[in-house]
Amino acid sequence: MTIVHLQKGLNCYNPVEKSLQYHLKVEARFGGYFEIPADSYNPWRKQYDPERFARTLLRSKEPNANFHLGIVDVDIYALGMNYIFGIANPLLGSAVVSLFRLTGPRLEERLGKEAIHETGHLLGLTHCDSPRCVMYFSNTIDDTDKKDMSLCMQCRRKIEE
Ligand SMILES: [Zn+2]
Ligand SMILES: [Zn+2]
Repeated sequence: MTIVHLQKGLNCYNPVEKSLQYHLKVEARFGGYFEIPADSYNPWRKQYDPERFARTLLRSKEPNANFHLGIVDVDIYALGMNYIFGIANPLLGSAVVSLFRLTGPRLEERLGKEAIHETGHLLGLTHCDSPRCVMYFSNTIDDTDKKDMSLCMQCRRKIEE
């Protein structure tokens, strides 16, 4: 079960739920809205550190919740990267996806792919070499657009073991 938390003001739960259920066979539930903690903003980078949302999401931990996935619309980063589409911490069981760089006519599809990708990490999957596999690392939005919503056979086998 993945509990999906939305940044206050967002309205994109359904495409996330559908993508996780259909392509990953992971059940999802809406976990409510959260506000991004002000101390996660890095004024030098003008971006947010998503590791801090992870802690916010975990505070709302509910029984039977295996994973927590937060969706935000602010620009997020990780050390050594100009930006990221999302990040997962399998040890904490929490992940974050940002809509910031997914905007465009294919927004819902892109969000679905990134939600599946980060939840795939929570399930223990690492990056895949196949550019069509949803676990392929997206360096640019083109990479995201070129990959499928689904796992390749090899990745699928790993989570079905
Ligand atoms: Zn990844
Ligand atoms: Zn794969």
